[in-house]
Amino acid sequence: LRQGLDKTRRSLINQLKAIVGQGPLNQDAVMEIEALLLQADVGVEATDYIINTLQQKLREEVLPPEQALAYLKQIIRDLLDRPLQESYSPTFVPEKDTLNIWLMTGVNGAGKTTTIGKLAHLAQKSGYRCLIGAADTFRAAAVEQVKIWGERSGTEVIANPGKNTDPAAVVFDAITAAQARNTELLLIDTAGRLQNKKNLMEELAKIRRIIDKKAPDTQVESLLVLDATLGQNGLRQAEVFSQAAKLSGVVLTKLDGTAKGGVALAVVQQLGLPIRFIGAGEGIEDLRPFSSYEFVEALLS
Ligand code: GDP
Repeated sequence: LRQGLDKTRRSLINQLKAIVGQGPLNQDAVMEIEALLLQADVGVEATDYIINTLQQKLREEVLPPEQALAYLKQIIRDLLDRPLQESYSPTFVPEKDTLNIWLMTGVNGAGKTTTIGKLAHLAQKSGYRCLIGAADTFRAAAVEQVKIWGERSGTEVIANPGKNTDPAAVVFDAITAAQARNTELLLIDTAGRLQNKKNLMEELAKIRRIIDKKAPDTQVESLLVLDATLGQNGLRQAEVFSQAAKLSGVVLTKLDGTAKGGVALAVVQQLGLPIRFIGAGEGIEDLRPFSSYEFVEALLS
C-alpha cells in the first residue's frame, strides 16, 4: 500500500515533516498544513474539519513535533472511520452461507470491471462461492471484459449475449443462478453512462426492484467505483450516482497513479460514505479492504 500511495505520500510527508519538525506547532505551520492538504485534493470541507480540530487542540495544549504528527493522523483516521458501523473490521467480510449481492456502479473507465475481477479473486481466495452478473449490457465490450476477469479469477459469469438485452433480465438470471448454486457473493456489473442521467437512474432503480423482489432477504451492498486520479472532479460523478442508487460505500481505484490520494478524505467527508476497498494497481491482487489505520500510516509515515 505504501508503494501504491507513493505519489501522494511523497508530495505530503516530506513537506509535512518539514513543517511539523520546526518545533511546537504554531499558527503559521497550521496554515502551511492547510495548503498541503488542499494540494493533495483533500477538499475544502475535510481540510476545514482537520484544521479546525487541530486548532482547537492547539488552544488547549502545546504540540511538539512527534505529537503533532500523531495527532494529525488520529484526526484523519477519525474522519475516515466516521461513517463506519462499530462492527466493521477491515477485512473481506460478506456473511457466509447466505447470498450477498454487491451492486457495482461507476462511470466507464473508473475501473469497475477490473475491481469486479479483483473482488471475485479475493472472494474465491477467501473461500466464498462467487458469481458475476454482467448487467452492463449497453457495451458489448464490457461483457467481454467481465468474462476475461471471470476466467482469470475462476468465477462463472452470467451474461445474456442477445442484443438490446434488458440489464434487469440479466440480474434476474444471475440471482436465479446464484440461488440455485448457493452462491455467497454475487457481484453485479452495471452500466456507467453518465451522459444520460435519467436512463441511468431508471436502470439502477429497476435493478434494485428486481433484487428486492427476487431476493428480498438479501444483504445488498451498493458500491461506487471511483477513479482517484480525478481527484475532486470525481466527486461530482459520485453525487449523480448517489442520487441514482442508494450507495453503501466506495471503492477508490488507481491510487497508485495519482498524488491526489487525499481525495479519500473528501469522499468520506462530502458523501458520508465509507471507503470499503482501494485499488492500487492493475493486477488481480491489487485490491485491499480499506483500513483507515493502514491508509494513514501508508500516507503519513
Ligand atoms: P470500467 O470501464 O469502469 O469497467 O474500467 P476498467 O476496469 O476497464 O478499467 C479502466 C482502466 O483502468 C484499465 O486500463 C485498468 O487496467 C485501469 N485500472 C483499474 N483499476 C486500476 C488501479 O487500481 N490502478 C491502475 N493503475 N489502473 C487501474
